[in-house]
Amino acid sequence: MKYFQESSEVTYAAKRSVSSLYIHVPFCHDQCNYCGFYSIAKADDRLIHAWYQGIRLELQRIRDEAERHGVVIEPLETVYFGGGTPSFLSPIMIDSIIKYAASLFTLNDDCDITLEANPESIIGEVTCWDSDRGREVVWRWVEAGVNRISFGLQSATDSLLRLAGRRHTLAQAVEAVHITYDMGLRDISVDLMTGLPSQTIDDIEYALQVIAHLPINHVSSYALSVEKGTHFYRMRHDNPALFPDDETERLMTHRLIDGLSELGFTHYEISNFARSCSESKHNIVYWSADPYLAVGPAAASYMGGIRRCNDASIERWLACVSDTNEGPYGRSTVEEVVDESAARIETMILGLRLLRGVSRSRFFRRHNIDYDEIFNDQMVYLEGKGLLERLERRVRLTAKGLDFADVVAREFL
Ligand code: SF4
Repeated sequence: MKYFQESSEVTYAAKRSVSSLYIHVPFCHDQCNYCGFYSIAKADDRLIHAWYQGIRLELQRIRDEAERHGVVIEPLETVYFGGGTPSFLSPIMIDSIIKYAASLFTLNDDCDITLEANPESIIGEVTCWDSDRGREVVWRWVEAGVNRISFGLQSATDSLLRLAGRRHTLAQAVEAVHITYDMGLRDISVDLMTGLPSQTIDDIEYALQVIAHLPINHVSSYALSVEKGTHFYRMRHDNPALFPDDETERLMTHRLIDGLSELGFTHYEISNFARSCSESKHNIVYWSADPYLAVGPAAASYMGGIRRCNDASIERWLACVSDTNEGPYGRSTVEEVVDESAARIETMILGLRLLRGVSRSRFFRRHNIDYDEIFNDQMVYLEGKGLLERLERRVRLTAKGLDFADVVAREFL
């Protein structure tokens, strides 16, 4: 039963206060061979400084103009530096941005501050390692308030790292993780990829052996997506047999899931695994379809029930941030005004990415209606296919559904 009129509904997300901030750092040392993200290789100091000034201005405008746009900002619970390669920035700049965000919004005492990092940012290039320099870098991140590092490991096989255009070796990555742990950081994550050209199950086995000896509590695993315009796109065009087929890629993913479970990691989201209570708080905001602020070129935000995406060009983003008629709440960045109907779909699609699924009571609190009343037909169909299971208090993907999450998501659209 519904308790209010569709026309007068204000979505839960539009009413909910926001306490998460994403900062997009678009700079990288080089372009990796698979990367389709917006990133700028070998940026000079002038461009980096312009980005830094733009971030400060965007943060300030988000704070100053929030009330006029129905956005209530609470003390921040999560801050996430993503990229690009955030560790490309100087620790002084990272420190300054955190301090500035804290001065505008305040940070909760236990605010989770994550920095995505590449191993070479810590200990230098393959040809010139420097562990002491690495300790100094990590120490300055810790001093700045960073308390979680997410490393782009990608693979434990050096030949695959070279093929992917990464700038680190496995030995460097292992040393970077140990230095990070030695400097007192206890929340350390690594990213892995499956489906790389010529990758085999043996590479996954080896990655599991390496992970068994790393002091980390979180792993993210991503299947390679071959994007147009990348080196891998051309490589696949010329030699498609190099790339594992869907079945092989699925076997790799299953082996990773089983192996990480044997190592004590809980599979809590389609692509994410954590040891006890070490889930990524920031990313859980996304999967919960809750609001978040975002700054930087190409950064996506969800504020006041509106999804926005900043321009994926540093020059156009800077122009927008400085424009008194545009800025963080302007019209040019609007991707979607999420109405009640779209919000219900988002709660289902994003929530089903979590292995615990979507809670019936939470869905009701957000949308004032039981999910059975809206999605029964879709759920009956997906249950029949063995992709979804409805328990008394929640609905979630089955093991088979995890392999076909995109098929499940399409059913709700
Ligand atoms: S470091 Fe990350 S963002 Fe940068 S080019 Fe490589 S994959 Fe892309």
